[in-house]
Amino acid sequence: MYHDVRAGAPDPAVPATAAAYHVTKALFAEHLRAIRASGRQVITASQWAQGRAGDSVVLTFDDGWRGTFEVAVPMLLEAGWRATVYVTRDFIGRDGFATREMIREAARAGIEIGAHGTTHRMLSSCTPEEMRWEFLTCKRDLESIVDGPVEHASQPGGDWSEDIAACAQDAGLRTLGSSRPGVNGASTPRHCLRRVAVKAGTPATAVGRFCRYAVGLEVARWTLLQMPRRLLGMRNYSRLRRLVLDGHRTERKAVFEP
Ligand SMILES: [Zn+2]
Repeated sequence: MYHDVRAGAPDPAVPATAAAYHVTKALFAEHLRAIRASGRQVITASQWAQGRAGDSVVLTFDDGWRGTFEVAVPMLLEAGWRATVYVTRDFIGRDGFATREMIREAARAGIEIGAHGTTHRMLSSCTPEEMRWEFLTCKRDLESIVDGPVEHASQPGGDWSEDIAACAQDAGLRTLGSSRPGVNGASTPRHCLRRVAVKAGTPATAVGRFCRYAVGLEVARWTLLQMPRRLLGMRNYSRLRRLVLDGHRTERKAVFEP
């Protein structure tokens, strides 16, 4: 689970909580070499859903950041690989994010476009109608941009629930990527696919390890983190996380809240 790959210096307008997930171009090149060395097939979410799960990895990108399209996509295509990019409808055309043209162009080149919410709000705080609208509106608008079906999604934030999964399924989405780390097999629920977060500081050795499906460390860390999140509630957890990671920058106007 990638977010952005950037060619230049970090954008000061991007809050630290988001920038922590933005990988430099040089590091991403190292990651691609580690993936190549692993010998795994690189496939898309739809190829995975079609049953090509045996010896593969799926590279996903959340939100629809500009660098994903300008930096990561050309590198992936040069490697002969495709990826699944989950785009938030309301981020399209904003500073730091992809334009409609960039998304259409990437889809034409073989990149799979998936949905990542209409507004990027936490689905756990939505009514069932709002949740449905978040999935459906994003899906429909992206379909009009790529001129083809959008059948896969990932959810903003980490607050997965059975209701969210059921809603995604009702909206016609065949898979839903979560933020739960792990390895996806035949028994993994298709609307709670496991993904391992790649962060700004994730070394290529770790990406190589993820490709060997050795993600026990990430699973253990995630399990521990569930405790305070559940006790504090999602909103307070986000506040606490921002306070810890962002410090003095919390008063700045956030362009993006992960
Ligand atoms: Zn997101």
